[in-house]
Amino acid sequence: MRKRAERACKQIKHRLESTEKSVPGFTSLVGQKRPVRLLTAALTSGNLPHAFLFTGIEGIGKKRAAMAFAMACNCFNRQKGVHAEQPESIQPEHNPIEPCGRCRSCKKIISGNHPDIILVKPAGIMIKVDQIRALCSKLVLKPYEAYKRFAIITDAQKLNPEAGNTLLKTLEEPPEHTVFILTALQASDILPTIVSRCQQIRFNPIPPHSLKTFIENAYGLDAAEASVIASMAQGSISRAESMTKSNWIDKRNWIIDEVEALPSRSINLCLAFSDALSKNKEWLFTAFEIMKNWLRDLVVYKYTPEKIINKDLSEQIKASSKRAPVNSLILKIKAIEKAERDIKSNSNLRLTLDSLIITLSKGY
Ligand SMILES: [Zn+2]
Repeated sequence: MRKRAERACKQIKHRLESTEKSVPGFTSLVGQKRPVRLLTAALTSGNLPHAFLFTGIEGIGKKRAAMAFAMACNCFNRQKGVHAEQPESIQPEHNPIEPCGRCRSCKKIISGNHPDIILVKPAGIMIKVDQIRALCSKLVLKPYEAYKRFAIITDAQKLNPEAGNTLLKTLEEPPEHTVFILTALQASDILPTIVSRCQQIRFNPIPPHSLKTFIENAYGLDAAEASVIASMAQGSISRAESMTKSNWIDKRNWIIDEVEALPSRSINLCLAFSDALSKNKEWLFTAFEIMKNWLRDLVVYKYTPEKIINKDLSEQIKASSKRAPVNSLILKIKAIEKAERDIKSNSNLRLTLDSLIITLSKGY
């Protein structure tokens, strides 16, 4: 309990400090050197394409990169010399690529009040044709104040066919002073005729060591706890942040303590755990991942202890691994995988969970 309170205090302190310092520019992107290099090259050459397509899994900085790029293109301090008519004063020490975060243009973009930075995102499950028509009617007019106007369409894989075709017509005759940035999970989800009109930039899943450093610095987590979250977040920074904010470590500890206690419990107590799991359906598959990783760690510790995922629980893993035979651990992992498959194919949730928990409660 005390550790949890200490962790919460540290997280709040780190958030306040990092909020004061952070400008959503290129340096705030974690683990995306190649996309930043490509965007930097486009910026410095001054030869911008009409449209970009940023692809990659959720939560790796595609929208953040789009906003940083829009800011950098329009930053008065960065553009000084190129657009000498802009009124802001130059800051000689300022990095020539990074937006300053302080000029009028940057501040408007950060606060979401810039009239020429237009964001379009799905309304419900789709991006509808009316949304794209409204966007295109704005683009017919000249930009209000921006040097480059940006139309940023996030989750473009959700463009419905009519919306996609309407967008295509605009991309075929792109309006002046306007750059489109589409973000999507993968290019194959988008009309090929749209993709062919965009410069595609792929964003990769963030490497665990970069995620770990980010979580440690931004939220003040212990190195061992940050390492566990980085391993479980599957390369996504938003997933890692959401895990940190929702006290994922405490939930993981509860699941592991329950799984470890099952063999010594009465059948009624075992089924109470099954009942608790069945009432947290949105979290159930995460619970399965935690169980599998725990049992995997007990196997891995026997051969390569430095490769365990739950590094902050190494003492507990060492003790449990000693008394658990590999065959028995593998059978339990397979039982969890079967339960996952059965639940996905709509088998009875409670019966499947009861059966799994009884298997997991067998001693070694
Ligand atoms: Zn600026």
